[in-house]
Amino acid sequence: MAKRYRATLIPGDGTGPEIVAVACRCIEATGVCIEWETHHAGAEVAEKVGTPLPDDVVESIRRNGLALKGPVTTPVGKGFRSVNVALRHVLDLYACVRPCKSYPGVRSLYRDIDLVIVRENSEDLYAGIEFAEGSEAAREIIAACERLQPKKIRPDSGVSIKPISVTGSRRIVQYAFDYARRYGRRKVTAVHKANIMKHSDGLFLDVARQVAEENGVTVHRTANGIVTYEGGEVEFDDRIVDNMCMQLVQKPELYDVLVLPNLYGDIVSDLCAGLVGGLGVAPGANIGDKGAVFEATHGSAPKYKGMNKVNPTAVILSGVLLLRHIGETDAADRLENAVAAVIAEGKSVTYDLKPDRNDPTAVGTREMGDAIIKAVLGGGC
Ligand code: NAD
Repeated sequence: MAKRYRATLIPGDGTGPEIVAVACRCIEATGVCIEWETHHAGAEVAEKVGTPLPDDVVESIRRNGLALKGPVTTPVGKGFRSVNVALRHVLDLYACVRPCKSYPGVRSLYRDIDLVIVRENSEDLYAGIEFAEGSEAAREIIAACERLQPKKIRPDSGVSIKPISVTGSRRIVQYAFDYARRYGRRKVTAVHKANIMKHSDGLFLDVARQVAEENGVTVHRTANGIVTYEGGEVEFDDRIVDNMCMQLVQKPELYDVLVLPNLYGDIVSDLCAGLVGGLGVAPGANIGDKGAVFEATHGSAPKYKGMNKVNPTAVILSGVLLLRHIGETDAADRLENAVAAVIAEGKSVTYDLKPDRNDPTAVGTREMGDAIIKAVLGGGC
């Protein structure tokens, strides 16, 4: 008998519910039986229950260890933190994984891109430790900094703190190695700015090198400070983030799995989404030791809400990642191949995948989903 799974479904808002509904139908078409437990989060929920992230959402993910999530709008000036950031924090989803892969038929300057971004999700400048310009707290932190080190800070400064820990660095780099081994990838590259931020990025790099050694890589350190790497079932190297950006544009084929602290991970993952044709085809996952939430990289595109217009690919590919995560590799391959075939044919695709965005032959969200389902082999639940 086919294995049955239980997962949390967060439809999100804006165009979220439309694309998530299509993704669920596509997953069902693979024959993998997932019983969805639907819970709502976001601004509409906040108006009813006073919080955009009610406990039932978090409890459901904790129980199931697995969720598919639509994008959730963060209203500007409404006073609550992003649901997405809060979920990652509450569930300690410390690894943000974003594969960036070329699919023939998607307009892009590049072909054959196959990169995976592993972004640390819990610390760095995203830790939210900030002091507003002119506040008493800012004055105190500036005074403390000036007491502890010789540099002056202008009194009219705002201050954001960048904590990077041994614990956080160790688990994200180990996650990148584990991911590489599990999915047959050849190399992990640690990305940093250790030459400038010696005690945050420098720590990240030191820990990454230790973890690489623990994973079978030989690290050669010369007297003049040059470090080289050799061997390992999964190879290892490191790059300074600015050089990394240039190299990704010039010779992306040299890279495979990139592991980065939070801020660089955010920026470089959008750069890599750009290499493969944009956010419409960029899936993602936020993964911790006790749970995994799969979601598209893009937002809720609220201007298209209810119009059956936007591209469901990124959330369907997030479903592919979910299937791989639970070990349903055959179903994941079939769904990914179906998505690739529909995009390559270029007929039943949404407006953004047509050469001309005003092409009248573009189909809607649901119709693109129907074409993908048709291309998926296998039975229903
Ligand atoms: P967005 O990703 O919603 O939109 C950016 C651009 O991409 C827009 O032009 C939009 O129309 C287009 N686009 C997005 N998804 C598309 C799709 N599937 N098919 C075709 N075109 C698509 O980004 P934004 O406008 O900056 O954000 C809108 C809201 O989404 C904000 O409130 C933001 O906070 C939220 N957001 C949520 C998440 C999440 O839930 N994970 C992520 C990013 C942004």
